[in-house]
Amino acid sequence: MPKDRYDTPKKKASLDVTNLDNFVYDMSRCIKCKGCYWVEHTYMPGIKFSTRCPSNTWNDFDAYGAFGKMRIGTAIAEGKMEWTDKLLEIIYADPLCGACDVGCKRNLDLEIELTLEALRIKAVKDGAGPMPAHKKIAKNIASKHNQFGSPHEIRKKWVTKDIKVAAKADVLYFAGCSASYVNPDIARATAKILNASGMPFTLMADEWCCGNTLYSVGMIDGAKQLAKRNIEAVKKAGIKTVVTSCAECYRMWKVDYPKMLNIATSDLGFKVVHLIEVADEAIKKGSLKLTKPVDIRFTYHDSCGVSRLCDPWTPWKGERGWMGTVSPELKRRRGKSGLYAESRNILNAIPGAKFVEMPRKQENAFCCGAGRGTKEAFPELASFSAKHRLEEVKEVSADVLVSACPWCKNNFAQTVKEDGDNVKVMDISELILASAEI
Ligand code: SF4
Ligand code: SF4
Repeated sequence: MPKDRYDTPKKKASLDVTNLDNFVYDMSRCIKCKGCYWVEHTYMPGIKFSTRCPSNTWNDFDAYGAFGKMRIGTAIAEGKMEWTDKLLEIIYADPLCGACDVGCKRNLDLEIELTLEALRIKAVKDGAGPMPAHKKIAKNIASKHNQFGSPHEIRKKWVTKDIKVAAKADVLYFAGCSASYVNPDIARATAKILNASGMPFTLMADEWCCGNTLYSVGMIDGAKQLAKRNIEAVKKAGIKTVVTSCAECYRMWKVDYPKMLNIATSDLGFKVVHLIEVADEAIKKGSLKLTKPVDIRFTYHDSCGVSRLCDPWTPWKGERGWMGTVSPELKRRRGKSGLYAESRNILNAIPGAKFVEMPRKQENAFCCGAGRGTKEAFPELASFSAKHRLEEVKEVSADVLVSACPWCKNNFAQTVKEDGDNVKVMDISELILASAEI
C-alpha cells in the first residue's frame, strides 16, 4: 500500500498509437466540459460560428463529439463494447481535424487526437475497420500507387514545358496524389513559384502516394510501408529539403512518418516544408516579387495539416504518477507551430488584394471536413462542413476563399458548385502565381 497519495505507484506510459491502452488514462479523464466542441468565448464574437468540431456540429448526438468518442474508446479498450456498423460510423465520420485536441489542452493535457487515431488502428486490428470506401482507396494505392486508381504512368503529366525540373537538386517537390491527378494547376503553380524563387528542384524518379489516408483510417501497416519507401527514396537521392503543396502530405511527412517510425521529426535526415514557408522566405529575401495587383477581397482558411496538426513529433515514453503527472517531461503538441504567420505574411504582401479574417482562424479554424478519408466515406459530412465554413466566408463579405491544400479546395469548390454559390475558391499557390513577377 502507498504511504500517502504522493506515493501512488507509477504506471508506464507512452504515446504509441498502435496500442489503445496507452490512452485509457486520457479517455477516462474526460470531464465532458465540451471545450473540444465550443470555441472559447474570448475568441468568439457571437454564437453563430462558435463550434469547433465538424462531426458534432453535423450530428448533435454526444457520441459524435470527442467527449463521446472518449467514452466509447474506454469501453472498447476495456472489452465492454463490440464493434457494430453504427459504432464504426461514429468513429469514421470524423475528419480528425485536431480542433478538439487544441480545445481540450487549453484546460487539461489529454491526448485527444492521438486517442482518435489509436481507436481507428484498433478498429482495423480487430478486423472491423476501415469503411468500404477506404478499402477501395487502399486497393488503388496498392495497384496504382495513387488514391484514385488512375494510371501510374500519367502521374507526372502535370509537368509542362515551361517548368524547369532539375535532374539533381537539394530540393525535392513532392506533388502528392491530389495535385498530380486532380489539381494539376496547383502542382504547376508550385513548380513555377519555385522556379521564380531561384530554387532548383527535382521530382521523385517514381513518386507514390504519401499514405495519408491509410494512416488516417488506421491501416498503419500499409502507411508504414509507404513511409519507409518514400523516406528511403529521398535519402538515396541526397535530398535536403522536401517541399509539398498539400497540407495532408505535409503533415504526413513531417509528423506521421516520424510518429510511425518512432523517431523525432528532427531525426528524419531532411527538412519538410510547405510551399507557404518557401514563398514567405523568398518574398522576404526578395527573390520572389509579388508585384502584379490582384483585385479581390479574400479570406483564408487554415487547412488543418498546415496549422494545428503540424507541431513537430517527438517520441515519448515514461511514467505516469499521481494526478496524471508524467516524467520525463512531455512537451505537449498544442497546435502552436502552424504556418499562421507565414501564410498571412504572403497574403498581406499581395498588391491590390484585400485580406479579411474569418472569426474562426488559426488553431480555432473550422475544418473543411474533407480530409483523412472523410469525403470518400461520408460525403454528406464533408459537404455540411464546407457549407458551414462558406457561411463564415460570406459573413466577412469575402468573394474568394483561399486555402493551402488541394483537398480543401476540391471540397469547397464542389460544395459551391452544388449550392450554386458565387464564392470563388483558390489555392494559395494560384494566388501567389497570379501576383508574382515571372
Ligand atoms: S475538452 Fe477534453 S475533457 Fe472536455 S469534454 Fe472535450 S475531451 Fe472531454
Ligand atoms: S478531430 Fe475534429 S471532427 Fe473529430 S472529434 Fe475532434 S474536433 Fe470533432
